[in-house]
Amino acid sequence: MERMSSKSSLVIAPEQPISARPKVGFVSLGCPKNLVDSEVMMGMLAQGGAELVPRAEDADVIVVNTCSFIESAQQESVNTILEMARLKEGRAKKLVVAGCLVERFRDEIQKNIPDVDAVVGTGELENILGAAGLTQPQSADSPFRILTSRPEGDARAAAGRFSRDSWDGAISDLPNYLYDETTPRVLATARSTAYIKIAEGCDHPCGFCIIPQLRGKFRSRRFESVIAEAERLARSGVKEITLIGQDTTCYGEDFGLKDGLALLLQKLAAIEELRWVRFLYAYPNKITNQLLETIGAHDKICSYIDVPLQHASAATLKRMKRGGSADIFHRTLEKARRTIPNVTLRTSFIVGYPGETEKEFEELCEFVRAAEFDWMGTFAYSDQEGAKAHELEGKLPLKEIERRRKHLMQIQKGISKRKKKALRGKQYDVLLEGASEESDLLLEGRSEMHAPEIDGKLYIADVPEELTPTPGEFYRAEITETHDYDLVARIV
Ligand code: SF4
Repeated sequence: MERMSSKSSLVIAPEQPISARPKVGFVSLGCPKNLVDSEVMMGMLAQGGAELVPRAEDADVIVVNTCSFIESAQQESVNTILEMARLKEGRAKKLVVAGCLVERFRDEIQKNIPDVDAVVGTGELENILGAAGLTQPQSADSPFRILTSRPEGDARAAAGRFSRDSWDGAISDLPNYLYDETTPRVLATARSTAYIKIAEGCDHPCGFCIIPQLRGKFRSRRFESVIAEAERLARSGVKEITLIGQDTTCYGEDFGLKDGLALLLQKLAAIEELRWVRFLYAYPNKITNQLLETIGAHDKICSYIDVPLQHASAATLKRMKRGGSADIFHRTLEKARRTIPNVTLRTSFIVGYPGETEKEFEELCEFVRAAEFDWMGTFAYSDQEGAKAHELEGKLPLKEIERRRKHLMQIQKGISKRKKKALRGKQYDVLLEGASEESDLLLEGRSEMHAPEIDGKLYIADVPEELTPTPGEFYRAEITETHDYDLVARIV
């Protein structure tokens, strides 16, 4: 498995014609799930003879792997495509748009942005080869199509959950792509850490979300495939693995595995070279006792749970088609805290969902005050054509949605400040990431409490004189200063 020095690109030899050995630059937007798709496409390109280059300006072919999660993400994707299109006035000969935006707006992209030479959807990643001017394998030969499904997903499909009928130009086949351990992949993360996508797609019916239409039905990678990839990564120097998927807690259900995620974590914790194993994106009612006990029982499994709850008012959750309530969620959090000492809890919410009354919003605020999350994000609801919520009555003005978002984050800021202050003087193992972008005088690292890229910062301000700190290594550090979200530490 190769690595890229930067997560934003890919490459080849300059004076050769594009068809022989193109230099490919990559811009990857969106979430870690999208990043893994970018890494897989980069792997296929490198194996197919391309040279990956870190600067788009140096590329013959520029690929923008887009995100279509919410309106602002779509806008960022479009802006990036337009920005990259300008480079066709220079060296770049081809602009390829890949990812979620393609699944959603395939026709519009090609019609409205003539500089785009090819599009590659989330279910046709191997088409990146042909798009970049390399030899395209026959899709029938692709080893990367694995589709199992769950009765839940099949029933939702029959009820129209995955329908793209109202989307102009969408291809009717849902993506069924899923990479495996034999898929070439060029890692774009720091040397010591890597994501592994253990499942793709989602069967849940959440009213605000079009990911199931974009990514297809839920399907898991084979157990042995995930382990084989983790072992290979560990052998290549990776010390931290983060399992991802739209819903990691459903892992294995499609091939009849009960508590599949817990079993997977146990197996990964036995890989000697790994120091940390973590997972993201738990679905609240899928957090089982066995999962909690497994996290609590293994030192290598980070005591960290990211469970996007989306709301806490039972009425809003019902309209979101998610279920649950503040009481149910409190019980889950309480059980997690009881089973896993010092567990770090992260969540995210959507405010301003259609019909969200002042009372429902206050219920959410009350829940946040009582739940005391370690990390929390809040999204302002935005309308997505194709999502069920789009058809709902009771849309709130943008100004009011923004007011609610800020208010909720203000509550969390106070909680976070207090919780971070309580960490002063405590010591943690810290994975050193390197120099800080904030200042040359600071280093940055992460503790078990910090998942890659999403949580607050941990700055290292003080290092013993005799020590030359090496990025990718673990150090013991004491928290010396705390802020609203960030921590400052010294290596001891
Ligand atoms: S669980 Fe809900 S929000 Fe998450 S990807 Fe699935 S449908 Fe979307």
